[in-house]
Amino acid sequence: MTKQRKVILEELRKHGSHPTADQIFEKVRKRLPRISLGTIYRNLDLLVSEGLIRRLRGDYPQMRFDPRTDEHYHITCLNCGRIEDAPVEPLHDPIKNLENVVGHLTKYGVFGHKLEFVGFCSECLKKGVAKGLSPEAKEMAS
Ligand SMILES: [Zn+2]
Ligand SMILES: [Zn+2]
Repeated sequence: MTKQRKVILEELRKHGSHPTADQIFEKVRKRLPRISLGTIYRNLDLLVSEGLIRRLRGDYPQMRFDPRTDEHYHITCLNCGRIEDAPVEPLHDPIKNLENVVGHLTKYGVFGHKLEFVGFCSECLKKGVAKGLSPEAKEMAS
């Protein structure tokens, strides 16, 4: 693995909120000032095809990258767009059982599901983004 790819992988792992290529570029540039955004994209593609990282599936305005390649859930802040791992362990995942139930009822061969948690991150809540929310949501946010 080249030095560039090592640094890109390290910065992606450190980031913690599933960055875009631009965000990775900003971090990597501090360590490798001569690197270009094109090189970042190329290396991210390589890392994806080697199975070391993955692209997030989902409806994001820009492609996001995940240093984890195992199945796990995400929680997304609807204000600032940060995406973090949701701490649901596969063993305690109640939705896995639902796959069987849905498969049984629909006669589909169910092999997966998509679930994403959404809300406001603690930093956005501190900044008062929850002001326009319903009383129930405000209650939960406080
Ligand atoms: Zn936020
Ligand atoms: Zn993740």
